[in-house]
Amino acid sequence: MNFVNKIRTSLPWRSALLLLLWLAVWALGLLVEYAPHASVWFPVAGLTCAAMLVAGVRAIPAILIAAVVITFWTALQYDIDMSSRQLTEAGLLFGFAHIFPYYLGAVTLRKLSTVSQYNLPLFVVSFLVLAVCCSLLATVTVLTSLVVTGLMPAADIATTWLPFWIGDMAGVVVIAPLFASILLNVFPQTKFDLHKVIGSHSKLASGQFKYKLGLTLLMLIFAMLIAWYSGSSESAFAIFFLVIPHMWIACTETPFITVLSLALSSFLIALLVNLLGLMDHVMVYQFAINVIAANALFGLTVPALMTANSQLRLVVSTDSLTNVASREHVQQRAKQEIARSQLQGQPLCMMVFDIDHFKKINDQLGHSIGDLVLQLACQAAQQMLRPTDVIGRYGGDEFVVVLPDTEQDVVVTIGQRIITRLSQIELTNNMPVSASFGVAVLSADDSFHSLFERADRALYRAKQQGRSQVACQESTGHFS
Ligand code: GH3
Ligand code: MG
Repeated sequence: MNFVNKIRTSLPWRSALLLLLWLAVWALGLLVEYAPHASVWFPVAGLTCAAMLVAGVRAIPAILIAAVVITFWTALQYDIDMSSRQLTEAGLLFGFAHIFPYYLGAVTLRKLSTVSQYNLPLFVVSFLVLAVCCSLLATVTVLTSLVVTGLMPAADIATTWLPFWIGDMAGVVVIAPLFASILLNVFPQTKFDLHKVIGSHSKLASGQFKYKLGLTLLMLIFAMLIAWYSGSSESAFAIFFLVIPHMWIACTETPFITVLSLALSSFLIALLVNLLGLMDHVMVYQFAINVIAANALFGLTVPALMTANSQLRLVVSTDSLTNVASREHVQQRAKQEIARSQLQGQPLCMMVFDIDHFKKINDQLGHSIGDLVLQLACQAAQQMLRPTDVIGRYGGDEFVVVLPDTEQDVVVTIGQRIITRLSQIELTNNMPVSASFGVAVLSADDSFHSLFERADRALYRAKQQGRSQVACQESTGHFS
């Protein structure tokens, strides 16, 4: 805990940690290097990108020092004959060439996130597009810096640029999201609120995650063993099946667990390319890592889109003032219930009610009291209904109630009970609150409209006969 606090409060400590992390991730990249300077991916690109996004320029000194350190290390490893001063300059130039494109990308992403209506799908798309562009720019700047400082012959550019680009891109797409969420916990006053965009802080996995991860790793190992055993480049494409379990994880686990699984899979792919000697198909694996990761990041947006859809559905189907069903929704539900009752030969009643002298309430006490009366009337009605009944606002101060499996006399009693409830509402100037009700019974050849019309005619009669009463459709008489 003390250590975490120290890191949170001290810039030198944070920089030292970032430097060590960068070197460790770079060494991890070396571990999966299948030939000098050639690896399936370049994970430090992702760390640099995340650091630029979360910490901004504060992270540059640590990464520059790390760049110098690895330049010295590379010179030692490959016996490059250069003075310390030359190596320092080469390291700094490499560092700037490596950092600049990701700094540019991070600034762009931060700017985009301030646009109103910025959401997760937009964030994923802009992140992926920027990953492609920044890694291409980094390929140009870094290869130029290596050639200028004499660390790489210019002739190597033709064969290096494509794997370099795709490897950097894989590093960014797979590693940047994971490190961004880790660095967010370490850097105070972060430059970018990733959690706000992603909408989830949780780092916990579900109980079934171990099975999902197990299946993913099994598929991965199996696909790569097939490529190794058959030796054909076509079989290397089996790795693309991994989009399925990763999409499953993305749709059912938290964003953190999704990016963690992607990092794990990608590392394992890179490691197995190395261990099984699958260098001949390395481009297939590089592209696979990018496609699987991009697909899973898109998968993160699926639950967000589904939530947005169901919220939209709720908005459309609910009356925002009274919280009862909207006109469209109550009509739709009523039609379903009518069809079901007719099919099963069961009774159904429709009750329509309208607040009495509502204009007067509005005029004398104001619209907000009028709104309150509408809400109280709906609450009173809902308390008298069963969960299977449907109540909706038909318009203004008129409401429709559909009561499946209910006989007319029961509905009349319910209406009368609602009237009693309404009479207990106390308005400031002692104005009474009441409503008039019309009831109609479903017949075999009824449609929603014919049933509604009969109930509405009964309501009209209730109004005519003095209001605050329940009237039934013509043929069955009148209750009050
Ligand atoms: P009656 O007893 O014959 O029903 O008389 P009434 O005054 O209630 O007449 P009517 O039902 O035609 O009045 C409906 C009024 O409801 C007219 C409109 O201004 C008001 N109204 C409609 N929607 C709303 C609303 O959302 N809030 C408020 N406060 N008033 C509304
Ligand atoms: Mg009215």
